[in-house]
Amino acid sequence: MFTVKSAYHVAISLHSSTGRASSSNSEAVARNWSLMWKAIVPARVKTFWWRVISGILHTKENLAQKKVPLDEECMFCGGPIESSIHILRDCPFAICAWRSSTLSSSRWNNDAHSPKDWVFRCAEQLSCHEFANFLMVGWAIWEARNGLLWNNRKSRPEQVSLHASLRLQDFLRVNNCLGSQSRQGQIRQIWQPPQGNTLKINVDGGWKTGTTEGGVGVVVRDFTGKFVAGCATKLTNVFSAPQLEALAARTGTVLAMERGYQNVVFESDALQIVTALRSCSIDRSVIGPVVEDTKSLLTQITGEGFTHIRRTTNGVAHRLAHFALHIGGSLHWFEEPPDFISDVLYEDCNS
Ligand SMILES: [Zn+2]
Repeated sequence: MFTVKSAYHVAISLHSSTGRASSSNSEAVARNWSLMWKAIVPARVKTFWWRVISGILHTKENLAQKKVPLDEECMFCGGPIESSIHILRDCPFAICAWRSSTLSSSRWNNDAHSPKDWVFRCAEQLSCHEFANFLMVGWAIWEARNGLLWNNRKSRPEQVSLHASLRLQDFLRVNNCLGSQSRQGQIRQIWQPPQGNTLKINVDGGWKTGTTEGGVGVVVRDFTGKFVAGCATKLTNVFSAPQLEALAARTGTVLAMERGYQNVVFESDALQIVTALRSCSIDRSVIGPVVEDTKSLLTQITGEGFTHIRRTTNGVAHRLAHFALHIGGSLHWFEEPPDFISDVLYEDCNS
């Protein structure tokens, strides 16, 4: 029977049979294989990547080398040769899928020429959580390619990254991984300050069930975790959680615009909204106008745009959003934070 474990042993023996590399190099390769096999993703996803790294994925390029008679064109873009690196990383369809994922481009993209170097470089540089996301998005791109090739099923790139994220969340939930991983420290569940001269803006929405009232919270912090600005805004005529989260994202973006902040990374725990904001195509859903407006404002602010974080790491914005439910209108703070968030601000920087 073909199992991931057997695949692992085949991979290791393949490597050692071709390896004239130095021992330090082979140690690095072994370490990277180990990162791959230990990744917290479904076994079929690991098997897929084992095929990619070993150069035996059934891409049209690989099949052509085996003299299978077929055209070699990319199904998505019509590019001349469908190689692993093209279909998974360089194809415009793949690029759009990666961009609408929660990984910024410096995390999934590098200039490696071979699939093995590409994946192993990412394995070295990404956190466990990021690497699991990386593996899922690449796999989902291949699934979309197969859907098109075998069933003529067309997917949009942002559906691909959303599918990858949801499948990963299901897998973690079913395997009860979320708690045990955080205990082992493999998935960081604490808020991280931004790098160097970057500002981080966290946004969140709070919903009063059974009403049409919502609250929005925004907090801006610098690389030391110091409070720079915050706001709490009460909204009326709110009809859904996605609408509220989209409005929270817009409020954070407007605050950044008004204050002239540049080099900003935004964080939201609403995956659907982050995916919509990172998508290359126009959002035609009910929340489309808010999403598209926010996207156009974001083009005027340098930085990484929106990324997704876990709800548990969005404590300050969450509290501001719930506070907003109890006020009328909008409150802003600059430099000096309000007392009722000082404990969460402190926890975020001292966990
Ligand atoms: Zn292509």
